[in-house]
Amino acid sequence: MKRKLTIALVAHDHRKADMVDWVIYNSDFLSNHHLVCTGTTGTLVRDALKNEGVNPEFTIMNSGPMGGDAEIAAKVVRKEIDLAVFLIDDLNAQPHEADIMMLLRQCRVHNVPIACNRFSADLMITSSLWDDENYVPSPPRYEKFNRDEYLF
Ligand code: PGA
Repeated sequence: MKRKLTIALVAHDHRKADMVDWVIYNSDFLSNHHLVCTGTTGTLVRDALKNEGVNPEFTIMNSGPMGGDAEIAAKVVRKEIDLAVFLIDDLNAQPHEADIMMLLRQCRVHNVPIACNRFSADLMITSSLWDDENYVPSPPRYEKFNRDEYLF
């Protein structure tokens, strides 16, 4: 990939093993990009990558329950994030559910690709669209469906 991406990485406690495995599996790729992480995820990911001999650019926010997800959501709103990998613990309640929903919602509103499992994340980072100068992502349309615009 020619472009340097800014990639947000967030993993809930019971998904951190998955995140560490994912970054190790993709360490070569991640070495060329800027990683923006919540607190504990960021420390773990940085240590895991360092152990692989890889030192990408890092920005580490507050821990998720202390506002890290909200800080990353603010970056999404400012168009400072190209892609997010957000490994959510769907089997346990989280104290910062509202912030999680906000981050997911802002990614949808601002058309930021967000992967919530490793398979999606692998597909996203291997897409050739990142380097396709003719590809323009279509922003979401928030409007009533008008059948007259279509020929069916
Ligand atoms: P953490 O936050 O990386 O600081 O654990 C993640 C989260 O719970 O959203």
